Amino acid sequence: MRAVAEPVVACLDLEGVLVPEIWINVAAKTGIAELRRTTRDEPDYDKLMRGRLAILDRERLTLRDIQDVIATIRPLDGACEFLDWLRARTQVIILSDTFSEFAQPLMAQLGYPCLFCNSLTVDAENRIRGYTLRIADGKRKAVVALKLLNFRVVAAGDSYNDTTMLAEADAGILFRPPDNVVRDFPQFPVTRTYDELRAAFERAASAVAAA
Ligand SMILES: [Mg+2]
Repeated sequence: MRAVAEPVVACLDLEGVLVPEIWINVAAKTGIAELRRTTRDEPDYDKLMRGRLAILDRERLTLRDIQDVIATIRPLDGACEFLDWLRARTQVIILSDTFSEFAQPLMAQLGYPCLFCNSLTVDAENRIRGYTLRIADGKRKAVVALKLLNFRVVAAGDSYNDTTMLAEADAGILFRPPDNVVRDFPQFPVTRTYDELRAAFERAASAVAAA
């Protein structure tokens, strides 16, 4: 038996778990249909991002323009309540592949939770010139680092880019995943409502603490 119980940290994906997909909303609100392309259409992330940035440049859109659009996006129904519930029980870190400059307006609505994500390069005219991935495979590596600090980790995400994080965690949970993710990763429990996600977190946290 362990002398000291290891505290549990919760790691959450952002888009699809707490807020809608940012680029899909930017495409809808700017009327630029080409921005709807996602990693499902273009598996090469760098190619996808360079394409998106070229479109923003062509349309002469600034970071401020995109932030104004993102500021109109609301968290998913029930997301704020779920996050408050979770933060009252354990430390929560949001692990996202988005950019801090895009996430900012959404973090305000979520009460500024802890967020680890990537960043943009912006020039003096507020135009987006590039992006920086803080580290490759950042979601999984954050879980590895937390475990080194003697935390147990329970993680939740919705898509392929979360699966290495879910597998690395002591317990991984899928939230509203597409069917192909459910099929490819049958080892993770599937939740579709925040009530189900709360129950899954409680189950996982007690299983992890007892292990
Ligand atoms: Mg997601």
